[in-house]
Amino acid sequence: MWEKDFWQQVPGLVVSEVVDLLFPARCLLCEQALDQPFHVPLYCVSCREQITPPLEGTCYRCGIRLPFRVDGEHGVPLVNRSQTRQGCPDCRRKKWAFDRTVAVASYEGRWREHVYRLKRPHHSADAFQAGKLLGERLIECEWWSEYHALVPLPVHWRRRWTRGFNQAEKIAEGIATVIPMPIITGAIVANKYARKQGTLVASARLANVQNSMKLGPRAAELRQQQVILVDDVLTTGSTANVAARLCRQAGARRVAVAVVARAGRF
Ligand SMILES: [Zn+2]
Ligand SMILES: [Zn+2]
Repeated sequence: MWEKDFWQQVPGLVVSEVVDLLFPARCLLCEQALDQPFHVPLYCVSCREQITPPLEGTCYRCGIRLPFRVDGEHGVPLVNRSQTRQGCPDCRRKKWAFDRTVAVASYEGRWREHVYRLKRPHHSADAFQAGKLLGERLIECEWWSEYHALVPLPVHWRRRWTRGFNQAEKIAEGIATVIPMPIITGAIVANKYARKQGTLVASARLANVQNSMKLGPRAAELRQQQVILVDDVLTTGSTANVAARLCRQAGARRVAVAVVARAGRF
């Protein structure tokens, strides 16, 4: 079956470029036709401006939207990003194993619907596009160039099998088109089929998350590295924290988190 082998060898990026050329690009949020080259994320300028908060208005450590005092037409941040290097008042007590977080946008409105969609079967191209946007957001952060590799959070094989892909890997592939950085998959792997968090009480949830991952066959590659964990949504931060702790166990010097959406508000 040479055809099958051939298509398996064509990198995902090339396939998506061909698709972009064949079908005129439309904004993935408002469907307005886009007049932009294929390497630019498929979101129009007006949608991007609407969804993306200024980086200054987010916590350096956990990525949450910082509180604003509404002052005339403009919001004035009550806490500055520069004051949150050790964490905002909300996350300072949580002892994160990661040092910093960046998110494209808050997990709300149209962006929430889009991010929810990108882990459904056949939506890997959306995850890839959201990853490109995240790559551009990382470039806004002064620290991205100090990091060496992207580490996508794992999903259990059963979930991967029903979905057809790991959305965190697709997001990482999107980031890597913007900032050339190796992707280490298999450094952290899913441990068992974690139960749906929603069905568990709080204490069981934490144990469920803590047991959901372990170091994998490529963990040695994290040694002495500064790595960026990649996932779709950061909600309580406990999943990213478990993954970050594993990276530190494997010898990573520093761990950052990059997500396409940050749930919750201060
Ligand atoms: Zn749009
Ligand atoms: Zn914070």
